[in-house]
Amino acid sequence: MKTRITDLLGIEHPVIEGGMQWVGRAGLAAAVSEAGGLGIITALTHGTPGALAEEISVVRSLTAKPFGVNLTLLPTLKPVSYEDYVQVMVDAGITIVETAGRSPEPFMPLFKDAGIKVIHKCTSVRHALKAEKLGCAAVSVDGFECAGHPGEDDIPALVLLPLAADALSIPIIASGGYGDGRGLAAALALGADAVNMGTRFLATREAAIHENVKQALVDADERQTALILRTFNNTARIYKNKVAEEVVALEKRGDATIEELAPLVSGKRGAMVYETGDLDAGVWTAGMVAGLIHDIPTVEELVSRIVADAEALIRERLAGLLG
Ligand code: NAD
Repeated sequence: MKTRITDLLGIEHPVIEGGMQWVGRAGLAAAVSEAGGLGIITALTHGTPGALAEEISVVRSLTAKPFGVNLTLLPTLKPVSYEDYVQVMVDAGITIVETAGRSPEPFMPLFKDAGIKVIHKCTSVRHALKAEKLGCAAVSVDGFECAGHPGEDDIPALVLLPLAADALSIPIIASGGYGDGRGLAAALALGADAVNMGTRFLATREAAIHENVKQALVDADERQTALILRTFNNTARIYKNKVAEEVVALEKRGDATIEELAPLVSGKRGAMVYETGDLDAGVWTAGMVAGLIHDIPTVEELVSRIVADAEALIRERLAGLLG
């Protein structure tokens, strides 16, 4: 399958790993790239700019294929020196960066000078248009189904993607709710050039997280997520566990402060879920696509299956409808 995204990024399949805090590590990213997709490591997962530089070296020791680095620009409980992470990416000769959250505008001159292709992840057409104007090479358009931060407009992909495709000239990656060949074929039909998958890649052999989390995704249905931080205009879709329910209850009260919620929503605490397998140790990110996850394959098996299923769907079912 050749699309504007496979051409732009120099990859074989239009399948991209979502930027996942605590999960976007070298092993998984290299596996996705080796399988013909685009692996992405997440800058903030590594704690310091120096540790990110080391992780980039590890990816390079595992694959010679293209990969990217995610830089999430959202509120954090502790200040983050984004400039230092950006400098590491530039110095390491990174060629693809995924930005998310706030506009990447302050960093665009640095990225442009270094010849870095920027994919900006957005949840609205207006933000996608701004990204195009700033010189981003592509946008990742996140529907309301997505894990992590769906924004505040709540527009699902069925409406958001065609609107984005009508408005933009740059390639579009569809994000949020993708996990199988049907999703890939649908995203292409709606005007996207690739899919971005996070939660689906959590349930693969190569994801360096506890088996309990992978099994929880296999067991989950599509209603197993909760929306938190709505009252802070920083909505996050996470796995619905005891901590998520506690946060939702506190926010319902109407006057919860971020200081009050911090011990519950802290990413450091949430990371313990992936480490220990205690599903209630903190908050952890998952999307509605959990309902479509029924196994824990290797990344190679998953990517091949998705592409083969999408191709068969387009060639046989859809083309067949034309008689
Ligand atoms: P963290 O521990 O600093 O913060 C925990 C949560 O609280 C995050 O959702 C953060 O956005 C939110 N938050 C922090 N301060 C806030 C404030 N003043 N007002 C409103 N909300 C606030 O974050 P972390 O878990 O270490 O993650 C680091 C960054 O990555 C954060 O920006 C987070 O939002 C983001 N993230 C993204 C994903 C994803 O979907 N790709 C998943 C997890 C975290």
